[in-house]
Amino acid sequence: MPEAPSTLSDDGNFDDNNKKLLEFFEDITSNADDVQKKVLNEILSRNAGVEYLIRHGLNGNTDYDNFKKIMPVVSYEDIKPDIDRIADGDRSSIFCSQPISEFLTSSGTSGGERKLMPTVEEELGRRSLLYSLLMPVMDQFIPDLQKGKGMYFLFIKSEAKTPGGLLARPVLTSYYKSSYFKKRPYDPYTNYTSPNETILCLDSYQSMYSQMLCGLCQNTEVLRVGAVFASGFIRAIRFLEKHWPILCHDIRTGTLSSQITDPLVRESVMKILKPNPKLAEFIEIECSKESWKGIIPRLWPNTKYVDVIVTGTMSQYIPTLNYYGNDLPLVCTMYASSECYFGINLNPLCKPCEVAYTLIPTMGFFEFLPVAREDEGPEKSKPYDKNDLVDLVDVKLGHEYELVVTTYAGLYRYRVGDILKVAGFKNKAPQFHFVCRKNVALSIDSDKTDEVELHDAVLKASTHLLPFEASLTEYTSYADTSTSPGHYVLYWEISYKNSDETLIPTSVFEDCCLTIEESLNSVYRQCRVSDKSISSLEIKVVENGTFDKLMDYAICNGASINQYKAPRCVKYAPIIELLNSRVVSSYFSPKYPKWVPGHKQWSSS
Ligand code: AMP
Repeated sequence: MPEAPSTLSDDGNFDDNNKKLLEFFEDITSNADDVQKKVLNEILSRNAGVEYLIRHGLNGNTDYDNFKKIMPVVSYEDIKPDIDRIADGDRSSIFCSQPISEFLTSSGTSGGERKLMPTVEEELGRRSLLYSLLMPVMDQFIPDLQKGKGMYFLFIKSEAKTPGGLLARPVLTSYYKSSYFKKRPYDPYTNYTSPNETILCLDSYQSMYSQMLCGLCQNTEVLRVGAVFASGFIRAIRFLEKHWPILCHDIRTGTLSSQITDPLVRESVMKILKPNPKLAEFIEIECSKESWKGIIPRLWPNTKYVDVIVTGTMSQYIPTLNYYGNDLPLVCTMYASSECYFGINLNPLCKPCEVAYTLIPTMGFFEFLPVAREDEGPEKSKPYDKNDLVDLVDVKLGHEYELVVTTYAGLYRYRVGDILKVAGFKNKAPQFHFVCRKNVALSIDSDKTDEVELHDAVLKASTHLLPFEASLTEYTSYADTSTSPGHYVLYWEISYKNSDETLIPTSVFEDCCLTIEESLNSVYRQCRVSDKSISSLEIKVVENGTFDKLMDYAICNGASINQYKAPRCVKYAPIIELLNSRVVSSYFSPKYPKWVPGHKQWSSS
């Protein structure tokens, strides 16, 4: 297998280093089939003796054909009993011969709690390799980025310990706290305006404040700005909208707000913050203008692009980013998950709708479950068979697939839940558009709420109406990102036996809102309570007959009257307008739902 070059050549020659990394990428994509077979062989031979493979009858056999014939395709629920054993302290080799170093907590949920993905120490190296490819690619399109800084808003989240003592935390928290990030050798491409201490501060206000302050102080040095997801970057801009007067005070005087109490953060910020009345005045003038259109290039005038993921559910934020960025390019560089890092975008300046990720063949062993297209009829929508799985190099242009991975950390033929569409090829390696995540109805930030979960929560909440002889007849939902932060909206149509809406106290509807929030998964509640990236859930009661109007609209636009079902989630602007035009009253959740770090059955560390 081709060896990945170390991230920096000894002589610190960046052009040379970029060249080597791109050659490596050329090599592995040209030999994608070979590389994939070697990856599978390596994973299976290292783990030949592990319980999971033996249980499924692989019996030390590491060959490709046997694996394809024998191993089942699984979802999280299938492996959850084994995951729970590891979480409870079983240190035997269940999935992997190497020790499980920690769990990565995915934003996907199972039974309302985050999924736990086992990982091993060496995976950090693989993640680092993917990061090291990003700037050599970018450099081909926008040279000289090494001459300035990146203003990235990066955050860690709280971690918990499983009953067996393993850490459970999000993949980026694990990465930022690792020496790969903290002790990275000087590299102009990872030269950020935020000192490590501000990124590694768990208090989200202090972290955001100090990162924004450092970004403003170094405004002319900034050549690129970003966050991981679009929602995070918009949150930073909204933070600035609210806090610019006090940020300007600090810049004018060279003193740091007393709200920043973390000593390490204070020390690191004070190395950057110097009294600069001229800069403070400039920022004040820009921020007090009525319009914030183009605020990013106005405050950071040398910015070349905004580096954020805007594919998938994040595409809802594109108009807002274009407004703040004055149409600066929105660059989606990578596609990754807690299970495995997958790929990079080789054409970073393309439009968001054209983004295609080239899967990196060394990251894991990739297979693809064909997704039946609607026009292929019921014949094709039969349940999948494991023989249907297609290898990385055999996917077909224009076809859609669900991604299935086998990883070095011990996931075997695991369904990630993402639907991808083949957009082209880089040598032999396919490039994919991200189509969607299966079963996600609502999402504002990293939350992913599916229809079943929403339905159960709504049913539970609607029981509050029963004492008033009222019942919920129809509902739908909408992820409203026009507010800051965004929030879930539920449209409810209610039938009343002897009463009407005015006889139901406001507090009853507020209880309904809170019950829904309490019933939603822990990622939603964490976004509400800890990250404050989602605001209170809203119920909008609509006039009777609204859902009939919705059906009329759908039928006028071609839906079949026999098959029509009210959508449980709406995104289409005319439908939302129709619903909003018939709202009679609206109610918000009066307080935060309950949330604690870790799974509810663990005590948090
Ligand atoms: P997590 O398990 O919380 O790490 O989330 C990983 C998931 O986030 C992936 O499986 C995708 O559904 C989504 N995701 C990650 N990167 C991208 C991307 N570039 N575009 C769209 N969705 C993404």
